[in-house]
Amino acid sequence: MDPAGMIDLHSHTDQSDGTLTPAELIGEAVRVGLNALSITDHDTFAGYDAALPFAEAAGLELICGIEVSTRYRGVSVHLLGYFPNQPPSEELRAWLSYLQEMRRERNVRLIAKLQSLGLDITLAEVETMGRTLTGRPHFARVLVEKGYAKDLQNAFDLYLDESAPGYVFRQEVPIEEAIERMLKSGGVPSLAHPVRVAKNNWEKLALWVEDLAGYGMRAIEVYHSDHSPENVAYYQSLAERFDLGVTGGSDFHGANKPKIALGSVAIPDDTLEKLKALVC
Ligand code: AMP
Ligand code: ZN
Ligand code: FE
Ligand code: FE
Repeated sequence: MDPAGMIDLHSHTDQSDGTLTPAELIGEAVRVGLNALSITDHDTFAGYDAALPFAEAAGLELICGIEVSTRYRGVSVHLLGYFPNQPPSEELRAWLSYLQEMRRERNVRLIAKLQSLGLDITLAEVETMGRTLTGRPHFARVLVEKGYAKDLQNAFDLYLDESAPGYVFRQEVPIEEAIERMLKSGGVPSLAHPVRVAKNNWEKLALWVEDLAGYGMRAIEVYHSDHSPENVAYYQSLAERFDLGVTGGSDFHGANKPKIALGSVAIPDDTLEKLKALVC
């Protein structure tokens, strides 16, 4: 791959559950030689908004993106949204504020559950770390710092994973609503890391992707740090079969996922150009 054409369309700042500030993320993008980056924080554009002047100063093309957790057939499915041509509407931003409120309501219940398990942890402690976008990765950090778990993964395994004793349900939006809102705001909805959807059941995934394309989903994340070469080939075939666009990225989270480097996932040079053409 031509290093001058390197892009990464999936990354997180400390405005959601990454650890680099928006300015630091732009610095890292320049350092690794990216020429286009999308910030896809969970439920917020705050990282993108703050990074934009730094990207402009550095001559780096910054694509506005988002990642939301949605509900589909009883499971949690992450949906990416890209706004490459124009910034998203105020209406979409207001909807994100609503998602943030639902997240806070979950966090209140999660703290109560952890306290009921005998852990000494407060909402103020986790919110110091995660602010408005406090999520389970921030809970995991506090649990590690307090010696309740030996590392972040261990904190999930012991307390925070869906199968662990501390888990509490979070109200998530139906995926069709998220798709519709993104489309209405000039965005391109893309199915995030399909490897985590329908796990290794490839036939089921094909049925689901066909269904989601029927709802208006316009792309699928073919390239991702968690995807094997077999995964990539299969998701590429699904994109062709259902006439979907292709996105990809590292899903960089800084020190919260220390093994994943920005720009570490190879993506075809024309991916961004094709993505721009998908905007309705
Ligand atoms: P939240 O949106 O607050 O429920 O947190 C979800 C995030 O927690 C995901 O995006 C992952 O980064 C992380 N996560 C969820 N489950 C696990 C797990 N079992 N192991 C490690 N990280 C997880
Ligand atoms: Zn994340
Ligand atoms: Fe995700
Ligand atoms: Fe992500």
